[in-house]
Amino acid sequence: MPELVCSRCKKSAPGLPAPPWGGAQGQEIFENACLSCWKEWQLMQVKVLNEFHLNLSDASHAARLDHHMMVFLGLEEPSDEAMAPAPYGFGAQESPGEGE
Ligand SMILES: [Zn+2]
Repeated sequence: MPELVCSRCKKSAPGLPAPPWGGAQGQEIFENACLSCWKEWQLMQVKVLNEFHLNLSDASHAARLDHHMMVFLGLEEPSDEAMAPAPYGFGAQESPGEGE
């Protein structure tokens, strides 16, 4: 497996054996995430699904999980509304005066 500098753990580590799926996003993960972080996401994904009560047959829920994945892997900046409450510490700061 090719080594890469992982966008999440910042270590030089083996990547995935192949892109997890086709398309630009699968390729981005393949090129930037190490295998151990990917495996961590596999476990974290279950927690996120439970924590946020996501139903993947709902496209907006699937998009939300997608965003969590990209943030978890260090490939996207977290957006507040999608992340709160953050189960793994991204964007977890509580802002008083949350509104609008
Ligand atoms: Zn990593």
